[in-house]
Amino acid sequence: MERMILAGAMLIDGSGTPPVAGRAVVVEQGRITAVVGEREAPPGRVVRLDGLTLLPGLINCHVHLCFGGEVDPAVALQKDPYATTVIKAVLRARQTVEAGVTTVRDLGGRDYAELSVRDAVRAGLVPGPRILCAGRGICITGGHGWHLIGREADGPDEVRKGVREQIKAGADVIKIFATGGVMTPGVDPNSAQLTLDEVRAAIEEARKAGRRTAAHAGGAEGIANALEGGITTIEHGIFLNEGLCRRMARDGVALVPTLIAPRAILTGGVAAGIPEFAVRKSEAVCDRHVESFVMAIRLGVPIAAGTDAGTPLNGHGSMVPELELMVKAGLAPLAAIHAATTAAAHALGLEHETGRVAPGLAADLLAVAGNPVERIAALDEVRLVMAQGRLVVNRT
Ligand SMILES: [Zn+2]
Repeated sequence: MERMILAGAMLIDGSGTPPVAGRAVVVEQGRITAVVGEREAPPGRVVRLDGLTLLPGLINCHVHLCFGGEVDPAVALQKDPYATTVIKAVLRARQTVEAGVTTVRDLGGRDYAELSVRDAVRAGLVPGPRILCAGRGICITGGHGWHLIGREADGPDEVRKGVREQIKAGADVIKIFATGGVMTPGVDPNSAQLTLDEVRAAIEEARKAGRRTAAHAGGAEGIANALEGGITTIEHGIFLNEGLCRRMARDGVALVPTLIAPRAILTGGVAAGIPEFAVRKSEAVCDRHVESFVMAIRLGVPIAAGTDAGTPLNGHGSMVPELELMVKAGLAPLAAIHAATTAAAHALGLEHETGRVAPGLAADLLAVAGNPVERIAALDEVRLVMAQGRLVVNRT
């Protein structure tokens, strides 16, 4: 493969430091091999990015490739034959990478279809981001997730078996449902679900296999159980309090807020066809969710961006709707970009692979028109996407 030199852009490296001009990013064999002054760049195919901003490919820590943001994803999934689900998931993977998102973590799909999409992207069969998959999330009998993406398990032994099944199926990460949630009828998002002993069993099994863990966790008691068990990331974190935030900051446990998920449900509402139970529950949690996020920023909790793409009216691709909500809640745009790049890579254990524009890392790169530090929505003005050195979009 030829050497490529990306030059002329303002560079945001993802680490949180301010943008710099006059740098050239050198790409060889799918990796970034150097970031140098433009005059020091070695010979190669030069791609001029004058007037654009170059940053690391974005990372979405929470997606569901098997769901398409339909008003009622459960109904949509029941209607489609399995093969149709797979085809749609492939198209969503492509849509995702074309929006500049070069890594996603899928936290629940349909009978492991998303793992096949992951493998197909990895094999170069179809375009898509790097995908980490959880397979089925471990939930209690009748608990949040059971009817769609869950693997019901009661008691530590059964939880262990559930986790082992996911690892056997090829999961990269283990998801647990520590509390109720919005999208399952009849469960309270604030209620604790898996017990502390069950949470511990799940995380211990994951650790033994070298897997990180993600907890769907809305209510404080469930969040506390997940933290006590040694969880890697807290998803949603709706009812955080100061003590929990301090603990997350101390232990380096990242919050993946997914602010857009309940917001999109509220915006559409029953009028759009979203099930009434989901709308009512979103109404009950939406403001508190934002307050928890603000508290988390104030108390230094690491923030990793994730959208929960696939939930009602919350589609795949752009992360701007989520990042805009973060910025509106008080996170600086540069910090929001950090949350969707370097901090996200850390949360996923990919910090030596992606999330920064730095020598040695994969050439996961995004160039956009305008300056996202001034206006975060500029991230949607995609001009170039490179995923592991492969040019996916080139409108320069
Ligand atoms: Zn989710």
